Amino acid sequence: MGCSDRVCGRLAPSPTGYMHLGNAWTFLLTWLSVRSQNGRLVLRVEDIDPQRSKAPFTEALLEDLRWLGLDWDEGPDGYTQKTSCLQSRRTFFYEEAIARLEDAGFIYPCFCTRSELRNLGSAPHVEDFGAPYPGTCRTLTKEKQSELFKAGRKAALRLRCAETSVSFDDALWGRQYLELAECGGDFALRRSDGVFSYQLAVTVDDALMGITEVMRGRDILPSTPRQVVLQHLLGYPVPKHIHVPLLLDVKGEKLSKRHKSLTLRELRQKGVDAARLNGLLSQMAGINPSGRPVRPEELLPLYSLDKLPVQDIRLTNDIYRRFLS
Ligand code: GLU
Repeated sequence: MGCSDRVCGRLAPSPTGYMHLGNAWTFLLTWLSVRSQNGRLVLRVEDIDPQRSKAPFTEALLEDLRWLGLDWDEGPDGYTQKTSCLQSRRTFFYEEAIARLEDAGFIYPCFCTRSELRNLGSAPHVEDFGAPYPGTCRTLTKEKQSELFKAGRKAALRLRCAETSVSFDDALWGRQYLELAECGGDFALRRSDGVFSYQLAVTVDDALMGITEVMRGRDILPSTPRQVVLQHLLGYPVPKHIHVPLLLDVKGEKLSKRHKSLTLRELRQKGVDAARLNGLLSQMAGINPSGRPVRPEELLPLYSLDKLPVQDIRLTNDIYRRFLS
């Protein structure tokens, strides 16, 4: 695995539900960006949280991506444990990264039980960033820690963030300067039940899979400083970041797994074909002005990051009607 000096991107779905129009938008753009640079594409299934991830959703994701006409060079099929593209089979690498950070004194046990700790196997979206962690367990003495462990308390592992602000370039949004406190402060790398965090798994995988270009929804932008901090501490390169605008429903809400009527399955059942869907998505990406039905390959010569909108795109009733008629 690894992509030498070629551009290498990834499709990184979480199998926690069926793929919807918003996912299709991000994946089509990612595919176009990488393939138009003759790059390699990894399909990485982010099934790190055993409670939320379901194998049938993984099957469904692969089927939906193929239906859309997207392909990949490395995926979840046919690999050994060390080269698997399923995060649930890559825990060895996350253990190793934790051990390195622990040896360097960057980790402390955290006995707090907050909802953040429950959900940290999934990518937090903008609305999930609450108040920064107040640092309750940062200064616990070794004695206090062993007292709590002896009393049977389980601990999560948190990163002691030495950097307070982080900057990185985003190809669409320009240079970003973020205070880590704005993004949650010291963040957890492992839950008290042993589940690794999204932040850790993504950072380790992007580095070990040789990912050079990370394209994802702009709602994940506040996670990027955390990943950059980890990249610095673990000696990994910082990939190119492109946070694309989100698709919003008619009310202006981000499309999510709640929007059952906009899953690719539902749309398919309603008779929408992949070419029509790609036509609509590429029209919104500014590369297919008429919105004519297309296959992804036909879009390759047309794709350009400069044409992509920066602002979120709201689906109007008119678009829905045209699309579903
Ligand atoms: N698996 C994440 C999601 O579905 C994407 C994470 C990423 O692209 O870094 O929200």
